[in-house]
Amino acid sequence: MNNLSAQAIIAATARRDAAAVPSTAATLPVTRAMFDELMVRCYAPADFVPVRGEGSRVWDQDGKMYIDFAAGVAVTSLGHCHPAMVRALTEQACTLWHVSNWFTNEPALRLAQRLVDHTFAERAFFCNSGAEANEAALKLARRYAHDRHGKHKSRVISTLNAFHGRTLFTVTAGGQAKYAEGFGPNPAGFTHIPYNDVAALEREFAAHGAEICAVILEPMQGEGGMTPGTPAFLQAARRLCTAHGALLILDEIQSGMGRTGALFSYMQKGVVPDILTSAKGLGGGFPVGAMLTTSEIASVFGVGVHGTTYGGNPLACAVAGAVFDVINTTEVLDGVKARHALYIEGLKAINARRRVFCDLRGEGVWLGCELDAPWKGRAMDVVRAAAAAGLMVLVAGPDVVRLAPSLVISLDEILEGLARLETALGQALA
Ligand SMILES: *Cc1c(COP(=O)(O)O)cnc(C)c1O
Repeated sequence: MNNLSAQAIIAATARRDAAAVPSTAATLPVTRAMFDELMVRCYAPADFVPVRGEGSRVWDQDGKMYIDFAAGVAVTSLGHCHPAMVRALTEQACTLWHVSNWFTNEPALRLAQRLVDHTFAERAFFCNSGAEANEAALKLARRYAHDRHGKHKSRVISTLNAFHGRTLFTVTAGGQAKYAEGFGPNPAGFTHIPYNDVAALEREFAAHGAEICAVILEPMQGEGGMTPGTPAFLQAARRLCTAHGALLILDEIQSGMGRTGALFSYMQKGVVPDILTSAKGLGGGFPVGAMLTTSEIASVFGVGVHGTTYGGNPLACAVAGAVFDVINTTEVLDGVKARHALYIEGLKAINARRRVFCDLRGEGVWLGCELDAPWKGRAMDVVRAAAAAGLMVLVAGPDVVRLAPSLVISLDEILEGLARLETALGQALA
């Protein structure tokens, strides 16, 4: 290649010519069947393909409209395409996408400032998902105990039915054997106790207190069946951790960012963690995770001890900053409590007519409807019937229909969605 042609090639490829690049949307029509042919089949997605969303409404390829009571899985907390998020993302998209952690960036620092100003935390670590936030939290707790107390202090207490993510460390922390089986050898040093069992927690600490470096808990178990943590259990965990020099990690990946009507759910439970993890609602649909902690604990993560390529990415942090500013207002947080009341009222009315639920529970816009004895194991049937009726809902285990809508879902959408849920219940459980 002579010098001239090299210069021509460089000039051509450096051109910012969007028109020369065909849009993939125009060139590649897709169908749901392609999922089964092309994708690793660790999911079983619904038989329609969502293509567009606005607020709490989603449309599929055929133009059918769905009311969204799922919000991803408690992710799109401001609904789809919220104007504040679209603005933050597009402004940042025209400014700076990525520089790596060899440089810091303004959106990341602004997000960290907000999180530190409004929580117990003094330091933030950013990553890309919930599992990564918990991975960082568990590594930090191990390293802290290692540096302050010695190698023997490495045991982690977690709870049965807990969900903390899908990395090998976090599935092992989780309390559902089926997610951790077949990947062995798994990381060692975990003990699972029943959730909300204060006596079991006390026994563990009495027997092994010197070896325990952390307790990791969800303030309410989401994936595990929508089981609220009792204040007594969470407070016992706090007290025992403090007494034995262990760290309390609260996994607020699903419970946080306004979902329960507080910025983070620990604020309503009278328990302050040493480490808090956030993701899901933090980015409102843009992948981002955070681990929050104190300066003292964070100090054991020196330069090079932990890291990730994308953590603190400007696009993610710009979106999360916009999400934070909308959610962290009394109007939105009080609105969550008002919506809770409306949901419970509507669900009770449905149940008075249909008698399908034996329990309605949850906090804020995070609700679990447990199916009564004749319909145990049928929550997934309700999800499918709901899709047919134009409603997106979730399960939390085989027996619980889970609702986790946008924090700012409209009154009309709540009422319309509840009507569709009633139709679906009639169809699924006839
Ligand atoms: C979803 C979830 C996770 C995992 O988050 P990912 O972003 O899927 O890795 C961890 N903990 C809790 C409580 C969750 O709900």
